[in-house]
Amino acid sequence: MATQDAPSSGVSFETTEEWRLIRSSLDEFIEREVATLSDDLGETWSNPRLRHEADGRLVPEVVEAIEEIRRRSAEAGFYAMNMPEEAGGEGVSNVTWYRAKKHVASHGPGLSRHVLAGPEGPKPLLLQAEGEQVERYLEPTMRAEKSAGFAQTEPAAGSDSPAMATRAERDGDEWVLNGTKQWITNAPYADFLQVFARTTPREEAGRYGGITCFLVEREEYEVGSLNNAVGSVGRQAEVHLDDVRLGDDRVLGTPDEAFYEAMGFLSLGRMELGAEAVGGAEFLLDRATAYARDREAFGRPIGAFQGVSHKLAAGRAKSYAADAAGYRLAWKMDEGREAIEDSSIFKWFATRALWEVADATVQVHGGNGLSEDNPFMDALHHARILRIVEGTDEIQLNTIAKQMGLR
Ligand SMILES: Cc1cc2nc3c(=O)[nH]c(=O)nc-3n(C[C@H](O)[C@H](O)[C@H](O)COP(=O)(O)OP(=O)(O)OC[C@H]3O[C@@H](n4cnc5c(N)ncnc54)[C@H](O)[C@@H]3O)c2cc1C
Repeated sequence: MATQDAPSSGVSFETTEEWRLIRSSLDEFIEREVATLSDDLGETWSNPRLRHEADGRLVPEVVEAIEEIRRRSAEAGFYAMNMPEEAGGEGVSNVTWYRAKKHVASHGPGLSRHVLAGPEGPKPLLLQAEGEQVERYLEPTMRAEKSAGFAQTEPAAGSDSPAMATRAERDGDEWVLNGTKQWITNAPYADFLQVFARTTPREEAGRYGGITCFLVEREEYEVGSLNNAVGSVGRQAEVHLDDVRLGDDRVLGTPDEAFYEAMGFLSLGRMELGAEAVGGAEFLLDRATAYARDREAFGRPIGAFQGVSHKLAAGRAKSYAADAAGYRLAWKMDEGREAIEDSSIFKWFATRALWEVADATVQVHGGNGLSEDNPFMDALHHARILRIVEGTDEIQLNTIAKQMGLR
């Protein structure tokens, strides 16, 4: 029998007072601010056909509403609350950030997903900003007055990103950048990008060495065609760098070391994505379960058929297990422990769990699952995307296998 004096196991999933407060104020913020902006947009938001220009780009009213949500969220102290206080964040733990990311995702796929900083927001990489870079890039991005992007992927280098062809060559006091990036999130709307370019040949610097990160401003890069992924139309684009001349003041971090510096934050990115998957799965399971209780066929609620209930129960079991792995990862990161394998396991498992839950949700809703008026097909497409970005399924398994000594 448990007594008050029972020794602590050291493991706790207890909801902290801090999290209770953040959760209720986040809910209030979403209900008040996000819902108002969404209502103001009216059909421009609710009708997916009106959200985009002919090439897929988001229409200006939608871009403005998203930017407004981010600014208000930053003012309220939510947007980049995981960043350190010295940089203007709240310095919350990884466990709290994990909870926040998951909780916002559990509100569903609407405008609320912009409340917390994503790829367009400040990331720890930007904490390397020095001198004038702090005022010009870090601080306004923390306040969500500016938005950014992370430009690594190229037409011929995705998973194998160190094989990038983009070069930055020295010409007197300047760097001259040439190359093409693709699939760059927020590129059409960003104020600046963090562009990765090779500065020392692979033969001299090794596979991961010789890559430098540059801060490239909106008028210095050209946005090419949009890369309209099904489930993410209007958000990614090609970026052309054509003899872009930059001074040393645009180098972020240490020259030639950018790849190692970015790898240091890999686990955080995977945790954020996995949290989004777990929250998304919770949202879908709630909707599908309510529907299965209510919808009748053959004289009974469809949830009474095992063919239906087992799909939802399996989804519940997988998202439950994914959540536990997410907590464990966030906790390990807070403890300052190495979490490479944990982050790959979590990202791989959580995004696959979401994919299965999204598929089950569509199936349980029958024809209604396919309707544009419901968010389920969008969720399915989005779930598919999460299995490709921040390292594909296969790349996560490679990492896990390597940790097991198999490569
Ligand atoms: C919606 C979206 C947003 C994105 N946002 C950004 C962004 O903001 N910035 C950015 O830089 N990039 C971004 N990307 C690019 C993304 O990171 C890449 O698509 C991803 O890394 C995979 O690269 P790839 O598409 O070139 O596929 P490839 O690397 O060509 O892979 C193709 C297939 O081969 C498999 N494969 C490759 N290598 C191995 C291996 N060693 N072992 C086993 N299988 C392997 C892969 O798993 C995959 O199934 C985004 C992509 C999408 C779709």
